Amino acid sequence: MDSFSDVVSPRISAGRLDEATLASNFADAHPALTDVQARIEADRCFYCFDAPCIEACPTGIDIPSFIARIADNNLRGSAETILSANIFGGSCARVCPTEILCEQACVRTKGENKPVQIGLLQRHATDHLMRSGEQPFQRAPETGRHVAVVGAGPAGLACAHRLAMLGHRVTVYEARAKGGGLNEYGVAAYKLPGDYAQRELDFILGIGGIEILHGRALGRDITLRALRDTHDAVFLGLGHQAVRALNLSPEPLKGVFDAARFIEMLRQSDKSKVAVGDNVLVIGGGNTAIDAAMQAKRLGAREVTIAYRRGLEHMSATAYERDWARTSGIRILPWRTPTALLGDGGVVTGVLFEDTGDGPMPEPADMVLLAVGQLFDPAALAEADAPRLENGRIAVDADGRTSLDRIWAGGDCTAGADLTVAAVQDGKLAAIAIHQALSGEN
Ligand SMILES: Cc1cc2nc3c(=O)[nH]c(=O)nc-3n(C[C@H](O)[C@H](O)[C@H](O)COP(=O)(O)OP(=O)(O)OC[C@H]3O[C@@H](n4cnc5c(N)ncnc54)[C@H](O)[C@@H]3O)c2cc1C
Ligand code: SF4
Repeated sequence: MDSFSDVVSPRISAGRLDEATLASNFADAHPALTDVQARIEADRCFYCFDAPCIEACPTGIDIPSFIARIADNNLRGSAETILSANIFGGSCARVCPTEILCEQACVRTKGENKPVQIGLLQRHATDHLMRSGEQPFQRAPETGRHVAVVGAGPAGLACAHRLAMLGHRVTVYEARAKGGGLNEYGVAAYKLPGDYAQRELDFILGIGGIEILHGRALGRDITLRALRDTHDAVFLGLGHQAVRALNLSPEPLKGVFDAARFIEMLRQSDKSKVAVGDNVLVIGGGNTAIDAAMQAKRLGAREVTIAYRRGLEHMSATAYERDWARTSGIRILPWRTPTALLGDGGVVTGVLFEDTGDGPMPEPADMVLLAVGQLFDPAALAEADAPRLENGRIAVDADGRTSLDRIWAGGDCTAGADLTVAAVQDGKLAAIAIHQALSGEN
């Protein structure tokens, strides 16, 4: 991570809000359903035949079945239905953009414009199981096969869990000190508050047969060739490790940060110690831009503005996320292409935007967060024998098979939706394909 002290400016300071306000600002954004509310909501489901919500879920959770079990007060059975399709069902219930997935497809959306609250029901069931401390999954008898997984994010862990269920031994090689990937280091703190990501990780590892080796980075501490030589198969779940450059001059100025790094620091620190500007300008149009803006506001920034180079309808942040930002007091300015940073004495004072007819538009700011996109960094694969890339990511077939024998990949390091749920599905499908390949070798 960039050293925060290198880029912090005198206009940026920590402790703008008292501890109680900070705690409330970063608490769970969506209150959980009570048992009664969950039962009433479950009763709204029509249990559709050929349910469109299942089709819209990237992990294919049998949504009407899990909702029916909630209605029958069988929360454990409901959670098992969810987790057998998506072992990250707990975090996906909190972070999935359900408004463009299952809930958008729900027939109640079309009829009454009020879908069944599938995400909240999913959370109700999975929270019940996690609270109970029960482990619903058992491993199949040991196969004697050993698979290497690189990256302990949603893709890698979903793959590891399914392989463990199928009786394989798994070693996960993870560069960082904690597992969970962006669930731990990236997703907004108010979506996965407290230590949820680590508790879910413990639950996933509870099946047994999975060992995580931390501080072991592919390309730095280990090579793909060595992993291939010492394991029966390898899964790469490396995520995005690079950020798109904006190349605005003059850089570097104090007060300019990469938004993903800002979020990571915020996730890993005492919030009262995280410095934020009074007037924050975020450049970008995706969920990282929204999350950075929302969290800057919740840290106590007075003015927060998101500037995006195209129209609102082109933003990759969903309409729901945009409305949430607006109702949180964040300004969103479309059609703003940044051309230069403005500075004074090495400290940022604003951004100059392209002339759209009325002259170049300056926008003042004492903190600028750049959220113009994360990229897969192929540096970890800089070996003679590396899998083929396509459009800057690892090329895979529908089962996650790369161009190299016995090497699979999935999640953000491959093409796809760049969502937690999509990474989980990639990991699960690759595990099934690895199992089939290894079984065929017997
Ligand atoms: C700020 C932000 C907010 C987001 N919010 C949401 C959201 O609200 N909802 C949603 O659905 N999605 C969200 N996403 C996207 C989602 O987090 C990702 O799509 C998902 O985490 C991808 O999972 P992954 O396992 O492929 O990668 P990651 O979660 O990035 O995990 C990759 C893992 O691999 C490790 N690794 C990387 N390189 C190496 C190496 N060389 N050797 C060993 N280990 C390595 C990393 O340390 C990491 O643990 C967000 C993303 C960001 C950046
Ligand atoms: S589409 Fe809606 S009503 Fe139909 S099964 Fe799915 S959640 Fe229930």
